[in-house]
Amino acid sequence: MIEQSVGVIIVAGGSGVRCGGFVPKQFRILGTKPVLAHTIERFREALPTAEIVVVLPEEHIDFWKDLAARFSLPKHEVVAGGKERFFSVKNGLAALQTDPELVAVQDGVRPLVSEALIERVSLAAVKSGAAIPVVRPADSFRRLTEGGSEIVDRSALRGVQTPQIFRQEILRRAYGAEFDPSFTDDASVVERSGVEVALVEGERTNLKITTPEDFLLARGIQLAREEEAEAAQEENQ
Ligand code: C5P
Repeated sequence: MIEQSVGVIIVAGGSGVRCGGFVPKQFRILGTKPVLAHTIERFREALPTAEIVVVLPEEHIDFWKDLAARFSLPKHEVVAGGKERFFSVKNGLAALQTDPELVAVQDGVRPLVSEALIERVSLAAVKSGAAIPVVRPADSFRRLTEGGSEIVDRSALRGVQTPQIFRQEILRRAYGAEFDPSFTDDASVVERSGVEVALVEGERTNLKITTPEDFLLARGIQLAREEEAEAAQEENQ
């Protein structure tokens, strides 16, 4: 467990249109509880004393408070998001009531994040000030051209995940910037402020739930983990 204090901003302020349906994907049930509930629980387990701020679409705040009570979720604060992820993170930063050494930003739709990953990225952020998890792509990649497509050197590519973790002052300074549409994550914002971002080994199971089939994959991983945990417990008895 890391010694530094951590503030956690879980961004779930998107409308989740790619998944279809009326309820954004962060509120849909994965196994036994909402996707966002799993994400909050993973962080509460990994960082028991951390302040957790959850950023939500304004129109879903009351709905979420109901769900959170129904599922007896760990303590967290709730704040309204903005039009872009950038503004949602900014609102989350403004809502932090403690003064943590590190701030972790997590996509609400990554419910399978592991304690080991949170710890690995936190330790790298303590060392370097800014750290993000990345994974090597398994697929080959092609870039579309005017005439067709061309192969891309995949050895030079990495897929970027969350949690992205920073020293608080670094993240706050970076988010003082004007919004730019090229800001797709926190690393892109921090890098713009002139700070180098350290890459840490991510996990292929740290899925970002984006499409309906991601729910199937995520449930499969959860069930496999539950079976593993049961088997380990039986072995210890
Ligand atoms: O938009 P994208 O799929 O990259 O979203 C990543 C995370 O950021 C999601 O958890 C989503 O709810 C959140 N988000 C947000 N505010 C927005 C847009 C996205 O908090 N305006």
